[in-house]
Amino acid sequence: MALCLFAFTWIADGTASAQHIVIDPGHGGKDPGSISYGVAEKTLTLDLAKRLEKILRTKGYKTTLTRNSDRFIPLENRAAVANRIPGSIFVSLHFNGHRDRSISGFETFYYPGSTKGRLLASKVQQELKGRLSSRDRGIKPGRLKVLEHTKGTAILVESGFLTNRWENQRCSAAWFRQILAEEIAQGIRAYLR
Ligand SMILES: [Zn+2]
Repeated sequence: MALCLFAFTWIADGTASAQHIVIDPGHGGKDPGSISYGVAEKTLTLDLAKRLEKILRTKGYKTTLTRNSDRFIPLENRAAVANRIPGSIFVSLHFNGHRDRSISGFETFYYPGSTKGRLLASKVQQELKGRLSSRDRGIKPGRLKVLEHTKGTAILVESGFLTNRWENQRCSAAWFRQILAEEIAQGIRAYLR
């Protein structure tokens, strides 16, 4: 009995340490990110990150946010948070912007050559695709600094274009960000299974 209990604890601990998710709300402080129609990207990414954290914790995962308030954090420092937690998964959250306001859709980036990153990106994109009626822009390899500096599995999710009026309205709505959080969480779970 005692042995069983010990084994269970050991497995539980081993699993938990392998499933630590570092959530990175893009931008913050002096860096607002994309600003359109009076909405700043940094505000939406923080809200989305908190929603995602809440869902993942309910499902039993460990989580760490690279920022939990409106403050500026250099990209290297964001990656460093994940690098300090071996086996963690890094998920950077962003909203997009473009000069051409007709451009819309969601896309997920991974670092070129990262097989695990590509798989995680595809799982998250697949879940978003199943629930969102906006344009599926697919998964893309991207030499993004925050991904480059992260040693473990890392992705960057662009959930919609704030420069597109229709997507801006959706992304600004709490109910829509809740859906985004739920689907991103589902994608992470699908990857870990
Ligand atoms: Zn951004």
